[in-house]
Amino acid sequence: MKVRTRFAPSPTGYLHIGGLRTAAYAFALAKHNGGDFLLRLEDTDQKRLVPGSEEKIKGTLETFGLNWDEYYVQSQRLELYQKAARELVKSGHAYETEGAIKLKIPEGETVSYRDFVFREEISWNTNDVFEPVILKSDGFPTYHLAVVVDDHEMGITHVLRGYDWMPSTPIHLLIYKYLGYELPQIGHLTDIQSPEGGKLSKRKGNVSVERHLDDGYLPEALLNFVVLLGWAPKDNREMFTLEEFVENFNENGFQKSNPRFVPDKLNWFNQQYLKKLSDEELAGKLTKFSAHSYEEILKLVPLVRDRLVTLRDFDSLTEYFFVRPEVPVENKKVLEHAISVLKKDFAGKILEEKARAFCAAKNIKVGEYFMALRVAVTGKTTTPPLWDIMQILGKDETLIRLDHARSKP
Ligand code: GLU
Repeated sequence: MKVRTRFAPSPTGYLHIGGLRTAAYAFALAKHNGGDFLLRLEDTDQKRLVPGSEEKIKGTLETFGLNWDEYYVQSQRLELYQKAARELVKSGHAYETEGAIKLKIPEGETVSYRDFVFREEISWNTNDVFEPVILKSDGFPTYHLAVVVDDHEMGITHVLRGYDWMPSTPIHLLIYKYLGYELPQIGHLTDIQSPEGGKLSKRKGNVSVERHLDDGYLPEALLNFVVLLGWAPKDNREMFTLEEFVENFNENGFQKSNPRFVPDKLNWFNQQYLKKLSDEELAGKLTKFSAHSYEEILKLVPLVRDRLVTLRDFDSLTEYFFVRPEVPVENKKVLEHAISVLKKDFAGKILEEKARAFCAAKNIKVGEYFMALRVAVTGKTTTPPLWDIMQILGKDETLIRLDHARSKP
């Protein structure tokens, strides 16, 4: 049987980090087995609908290469759910109340399934299951009915979803049984923990995929980071493109313990993927994050690329190229000496040699000399090689800055 999986987000305005992980796993499970990956917008709770979500979710998934084979929108399928609800009423498994249809939950029965992520049998006593509304008075189904009808109608073979949905599963199991549907494989993914512990949530930080992209994380890095939150290969390999992840995917790689979102690890992945880009590719990506032109960016990329953690860092790392820095009072004798040398020869590297002789004569440390120069030119104490910075700034601008620092009262 062809493997068919789905990602079923609700249109809440953004894609959650955990949602990206679910989508990537569902995609890999399908594609590793030559199957289909479906996208289904679960928009039956019209009160929670955030306008623009549909396009945003689609655009975000495409950014990661998580392309779907089929696309469905639940609000366009109401008749199917209404028909199923009528069937359940007819067979005595649901009943109409004032304004809504509710599922009847039997007393003292056990419902169970084998979770393919946790690789264990999970069961409930129906006495612990509440009677849920399945169809509302406005003709819209609730999640419970819609998800079961759709997973059946769409031929989904593996349902993968967040751990949050586990309490709904006994309701779904009963609906499957009452409608005579074959049960798909069901798997619940572990909860991602926030850096300070507890479940990763909006209150505790940035959980939005779109915001991470806006913050200058590369999609490849974010995806690589996310797929290793709860899944691991047999070896300790860490670097996976989407294609490689699909190729190496194995259901047994799902881990049972909750993973932790470690921002430093995400930063590390981002740096690994930044390193893979050529100067031109990197400059191209930086244009979206920088106030400067592609040409200006490209000139500076070789100098600062190793210092970037995210694409957002570029403008602050290169600010002093564009804005003359405010500098503290520095060793004026050093600056005067440097000015006189650079005036005569800016292109050659005689400064180094002359500086050493000057320092020896005046009993100054060479490190101090160059620090005074560095601060006068950039306003910073740590920068890429000063020589390269001065060459990019050019003779005139370098001398103006040195002179400005020298003439500070
Ligand atoms: N619409 C649910 C969500 O937003 C999907 C749950 C499921 O995949 O069954 O996560």
